Amino acid sequence: MKSVCVFCGSSLGAAPEYSEMARKTGETIAKAGLTLVYGGASVGLMGIVADGALEHGGKVVGVLPKHLQDKEIGHKGLSELHIVGSMHERKTLMAELSDGFVALPGGAGTMEEIFEVWTWGQLGLHNKPCGFLNVLGFYDGLISFFDLQTSEGFMKPVMRDMVQVADTPQSMLDKFRKYEPPATPKWIKPGET
Ligand code: AMP
Repeated sequence: MKSVCVFCGSSLGAAPEYSEMARKTGETIAKAGLTLVYGGASVGLMGIVADGALEHGGKVVGVLPKHLQDKEIGHKGLSELHIVGSMHERKTLMAELSDGFVALPGGAGTMEEIFEVWTWGQLGLHNKPCGFLNVLGFYDGLISFFDLQTSEGFMKPVMRDMVQVADTPQSMLDKFRKYEPPATPKWIKPGET
């Protein structure tokens, strides 16, 4: 593993713990000698993750769509900033540049990004780990919902197990290093439930 992608809020959230965890995540990635890949913004938790890595000498690669350059305000101190034409190009490049994907707390954008890479993994389009960093129990409700989806027969247990959950960035990296992608394909044969 050489690089980790972090998806997180373009807002700061209500509690200081979210920012603290974002900074710690950047720091942990940098200290592990990994490149941080993220959305390239200077706002919200996104900017703090980048700052956390840069403050500890880490390499930080941002990927920002042109139309968001003003709204999310491109971070000025990154090792590399790729300006791309669309959200789709952004996610494609972030996925190509990264060996694992972590969601910190965030809004709809964060959900969209982590769900997309998880579902790409589910389809066998990549074998990279995905996970939720559960700060202050922020993701408890979502994780319970995954369990409901599984018990109600909409998600295979092997797919539920693909998604990693950790309380600290270090334990997330440890889980990523041990991650083995499932051998079972998602595709269900006709007649199978
Ligand atoms: P949010 O979690 O909503 O604060 O957004 C976090 C990041 O996700 C920001 O960089 C948003 O620009 C981005 N984002 C928002 N909507 C989408 C989308 N549909 N596809 C990809 N990224 C998005």
